[in-house]
Amino acid sequence: MAKRDYYEVLGVPRNASEAEIKKSYRRLAMKYHPDRNQGDAEAENQFKEAKEAYEILSDEQKRAAYDQFGHAGVEGNMGGGGDAGFSGFGDIFESVFGDMFGGGGGGNRNRVYRGADLRYDLQLTLEQAVNGTEVKIRIPTHVTCLACSGTGAKSGTKPTTCNTCGGAGQVRMQKGFFSIQQACPTCHGSGAIIRDPCPSCRGEGRVAEHKTLSVKIPAGVDNGDRIRLQNEGEPGGNGGPAGDLYVQVHVKPHTFFSREDNHLFCEVPIDIVTAALGGELEVPTLNGKVLLSIPSETQSGKVFRVKGKGIKPVRGGPIGDLHCRVVVETPVKLNSQQKELLRQFSQTMKDSGMPHHPKTKSWLESVKDFFENLKS
Ligand SMILES: [Zn+2]
Ligand SMILES: [Zn+2]
Repeated sequence: MAKRDYYEVLGVPRNASEAEIKKSYRRLAMKYHPDRNQGDAEAENQFKEAKEAYEILSDEQKRAAYDQFGHAGVEGNMGGGGDAGFSGFGDIFESVFGDMFGGGGGGNRNRVYRGADLRYDLQLTLEQAVNGTEVKIRIPTHVTCLACSGTGAKSGTKPTTCNTCGGAGQVRMQKGFFSIQQACPTCHGSGAIIRDPCPSCRGEGRVAEHKTLSVKIPAGVDNGDRIRLQNEGEPGGNGGPAGDLYVQVHVKPHTFFSREDNHLFCEVPIDIVTAALGGELEVPTLNGKVLLSIPSETQSGKVFRVKGKGIKPVRGGPIGDLHCRVVVETPVKLNSQQKELLRQFSQTMKDSGMPHHPKTKSWLESVKDFFENLKS
């Protein structure tokens, strides 16, 4: 059967606003809702047709695709055109009517559902993050209680059928002119009442336990990266798949390295003699030391780049560099002979008449200009 035009289904013009589309869909959904038209196949079809039309036209992107290409533009969006398995009338229907229908299938004891995703915060040292590692993590999980085999009832007793819902887990209630289905308030949808709860699991049917997982951390991960362990999250219900476990990476601050993208940064103190005369300096990297040659007349704050001694990015690409910022350190605890030598040294510089401290000189001149400008 050829599909009807979605605008025609909802009875709105092609330039209808979002609000008009929603309003029209509400009207049709109320009219053809299966709870009001029990056993009426025609009404059910109308209901599905309206729902499908609304799903497309209420979504800006899908609507644009439909406007341009017709049904062919949105094929595959509808999961084969039928009603999606166990989700029933949930999802989009609830988004329009809110909790008017009691929140749908939350309590159905036979509902198949996927387990929740879990998150684990993992602290790594910078070395571990950069070189990769394998860590064992302990995560909480739930297993079937052995004492009651998962029934939740004390051994020797059995859960009894709930009187309110007769074991169905759902009750029908009248709201306005709708008859709606809701999770049974007495048994919360399980269909059974436990009079003597199992002491091991307090009637839950499952107990908390820990499991240990081995997690491979690829080299190059950084703060904020996540590693997904499929199906290691909460178990699903009634045969549904387990959720996933996300391992969130946090890198601890390092004593002297900091990281930016694939580059490493560190600060290296050097003495005034090396700074003035030049020399060689051993600097650490994350995999051993390298020799850094310091040219003569090196000023404090100068950054030297050691190529390829940074980080190999986890998603591929070139290895970063190590940036060493030198800081010239003033000597302390000088004895009288050393102090005397420095005084003599200072005098030789004054006598030479050479610009030994070009920065100091130009700074002093700027300061002088500054004060003179203030006066005038
Ligand atoms: Zn138990
Ligand atoms: Zn019940």
